[in-house]
Amino acid sequence: MDKICIKGLEVFGKHGVLPEENALGQKFVISATLFCDTRRAGKSDRLEDSVNYAQVSELLKAETESHVFRLLEALAWHLAKEVLLHFEMVQGVTVQVEKPWAPVHLPLDTVSVQIHREWHQAYLGVGSNLGDREGQIHAAVEYLRQDELTRVVQVSKLIETEPVGYTEQDDFLNGAIEISTLRSPEELLELTQGIEGKLKRERKIHWGPRTIDLDILLYGREVVQRENLCIPHIEMERRMFVLEPLCQIAPYAVHPLSGRRVQELRQALLDGKNV
Ligand code: ATP
Ligand code: CA
Ligand code: CA
Repeated sequence: MDKICIKGLEVFGKHGVLPEENALGQKFVISATLFCDTRRAGKSDRLEDSVNYAQVSELLKAETESHVFRLLEALAWHLAKEVLLHFEMVQGVTVQVEKPWAPVHLPLDTVSVQIHREWHQAYLGVGSNLGDREGQIHAAVEYLRQDELTRVVQVSKLIETEPVGYTEQDDFLNGAIEISTLRSPEELLELTQGIEGKLKRERKIHWGPRTIDLDILLYGREVVQRENLCIPHIEMERRMFVLEPLCQIAPYAVHPLSGRRVQELRQALLDGKNV
């Protein structure tokens, strides 16, 4: 991806762990690399088609001056987030924050923290078979929209499905959601579990009735294998109630382990070849 670079922006700020730093302030040097596609601007030669680095620099300065963080890590994350939220075209950003006058009583040039953050495309599966199923699914989507770090891109139509596993329960409504998020996989799980909590999800019977279930199906092409989090979702290729709505919104999304598209996974399951 193309890069637009801002290097060595000097700003006076009051970030630091020591009270003197918060009172007196000192020099901070900020650099930012903006990852974005500049093809359109390259052809049109119009500023509106690109990211205005003067505006980004103003934002970096204003945000550094108007907040006080203890850590460079917190300042860097705040700046990265502000840039990604304010400039639609920026898909990723590397922010470096230097503190040349840091109170380290040793001969050094500078200390710095550098972070990289970017938007990640992810797909969630959603299901409900208890209470106001449709209302709860809409509420879950609304909670996702309210999250500052997450944008809801698409929501599939909801389909009615029969329960799988534990069959002595009502039918489900199932859907799939495409999001774009600044959250890591773990932070995304925190968000979805928080939303389940708000919608009174209770875990009594495994695969039992639930007001809402939000599963992370895909997170870009990343593979996560942790005790509390597996991405892609382990069962997705065996579940028509997942593949059917997902195929509506993302037929060409690729399952990173099998290398197969959602559309193919769905067809294979229909043909009885997945199991
Ligand atoms: P299933 O996971 O088979 O669809 P379920 O949705 O009923 O079953 P839950 O009780 O909602 O299961 O979740 C059990 C645990 O699964 C959660 O505590 C969570 O840590 C873990 N988990 C692992 N991978 C994922 C994922 N990709 N998305 C959501 N939860 C996951
Ligand atoms: Ca589930
Ligand atoms: Ca779940």
